[in-house]
Amino acid sequence: MPGGVNSPVRSFRAVEGTPVFIKKAKGAWAWDEDGNKYIDYVASWGPLILGHAHPEVVRAIKKAAEKGTSYGAPCEKEVDLANLILKSFLSIDMIRMTSSGTEATMSAVRLARAYTKRDFIVKFEGCYHGHADYLLVKAGSGATTFGTPSSPGVPREFTERTLLAKYNNIQSVENLFAKHRNEIACVLIEPVAANMGVVPPKKGFLQDLRKITEDAGMLLIFDEVITGFRLGLGGAQKTYGVTPDITCLGKIIGGGLPVGAYGGKKEIMSLVAPIGPVYQAGTLSGNPLAMSAGVATLTKLREKGIYKRLNELTQFLVEGLREILEKLHIEAQLNSVGSMFTLFFTDCEVVDYESALTSNTKMYSGFFKNLLSAGIMFPPSQFEAVFASLAHTEKEIDMTLKAAYNALKKIK
Ligand SMILES: *Cc1c(COP(=O)(O)O)cnc(C)c1O
Repeated sequence: MPGGVNSPVRSFRAVEGTPVFIKKAKGAWAWDEDGNKYIDYVASWGPLILGHAHPEVVRAIKKAAEKGTSYGAPCEKEVDLANLILKSFLSIDMIRMTSSGTEATMSAVRLARAYTKRDFIVKFEGCYHGHADYLLVKAGSGATTFGTPSSPGVPREFTERTLLAKYNNIQSVENLFAKHRNEIACVLIEPVAANMGVVPPKKGFLQDLRKITEDAGMLLIFDEVITGFRLGLGGAQKTYGVTPDITCLGKIIGGGLPVGAYGGKKEIMSLVAPIGPVYQAGTLSGNPLAMSAGVATLTKLREKGIYKRLNELTQFLVEGLREILEKLHIEAQLNSVGSMFTLFFTDCEVVDYESALTSNTKMYSGFFKNLLSAGIMFPPSQFEAVFASLAHTEKEIDMTLKAAYNALKKIK
């Protein structure tokens, strides 16, 4: 396996390490093959908001598996999950499940192009939307980590219609509109960027984006693969009060199994096959195991006070880290939204890709390694989000803060 892994960031190359092989994980904890244990803040890169092997999720998967792992025919759990999503996302009238977030964004863009009969798309530097050819242009996540934002193997023609704007900079979008006004199908964005590290939208930015896309007859696509059910039941669109035309989901809605979904207004979604001409399919889409894990997860998330508790706990950690940074006189930026955050080692406020890239990745790497040897697993890259889960308690947060103090002191 290239790098010993099946997804690049896991390789620890960005922090000059070798990957930790996980043997098992439960709640907030993970154990490796060498007998070390860690408080885990990677959370499978976002999906595990309930923590590892949550009993209700495991029970749901077991129960489903006993009834068959895949049918290639519709089943009730697909309807259950769709209903749970539609209850929370009022912008979605119709939804299609896929097996990954990559497929969701790819299909959403195809649909937007078909609906508007236009070919250009706008994405933002540092946002990651999976690994479709034309979306691997200045993409975040692993692509940023390895300095190959535009991957070889992608013909230039494939990315010619991908226009790049700057996150939190509405003028940069307007400039593209001025040049390509009647050619742009959609603007695709992570409403809270989380793949160049966490970068929240500035006040009014998403609202402005909504207004100018609507005025220009373009679709606004929110890639909520991370933020959907992470910021709250209704995702970033509910938090910021902005309604997109199409929403992409993934990660949390699969409860730790492979999943993705895209949905939106009925008028738009009606173009999708078989009721419309826009082709998109998947052998394992709507898989009963994934649907069951998703239903169990979203059902749990509907319990009262869940997000409040999760966000308060995360803020406790974030504020603790802020105090440590002050005490040690370390210049750094702590960007946090809900239960995710990033500690950027830079004195520059991080509001977009350019400012994120001013971070001292050597310092991050040192911080990461010190934490890891103290039994705390942060993401092995500066440009990723730290995720807290409902399985983390005050005890784990205290242990993390103690380890963080020592880790930061050592790299100072
Ligand atoms: C993870 C992610 C994707 C891709 O999802 P996969 O399931 O890894 O294909 C797309 N968009 C965003 C915002 C993501 O964080």
